[in-house]
Amino acid sequence: MKIKSIIILCIASLLACCTCTNVSKGPYVDPDLKYVYNDWKDECDRLKIKVKHNTCDLDSIIFGELEKGYWGKCYKDKIVINNSVAAPSDTFLLKLIMYHELGHCAFDYKHDDNGLDIMNSILPAGKIIVYKLFWGILKENYFSRYEVPKTRTKLKYGNSCGEIHIQNEPQMSYK
Ligand SMILES: [Zn+2]
Repeated sequence: MKIKSIIILCIASLLACCTCTNVSKGPYVDPDLKYVYNDWKDECDRLKIKVKHNTCDLDSIIFGELEKGYWGKCYKDKIVINNSVAAPSDTFLLKLIMYHELGHCAFDYKHDDNGLDIMNSILPAGKIIVYKLFWGILKENYFSRYEVPKTRTKLKYGNSCGEIHIQNEPQMSYK
């Protein structure tokens, strides 16, 4: 019995090594961002997309200070949402930023500026309402591009990490 458990343990740790280091725990998510992260996760579950295998390089998703003009930023192991332009009460805005940054960090998506898209490189503050109106279609389009990690083609310029997310309208409706 004991040997059996040891064998199982060995196999389990071996499997853990072969995939990613923190595959079991998932990223730390700021409590105020949990509901938007969970929204994205629920969609993944619904579509049978394995969340853990796409977020294993992600250490944390937090609010933080970013240079002016950025809603959020995806670093290799971290997503930072600009706390000076988005507040916990901006539910839809946060969802949009979360999906966008997870698009980079979890799915390796690049920017897509062919029409209205969650992965648009610029999200003008005044147009957030339009994204909200078309959210159903945008979300469908976003997930339809998903590829499992193994089959993803390497991005032309290294990786998508550190890609910025610009909001270039000077007059922002958020404080
Ligand atoms: Zn971006």
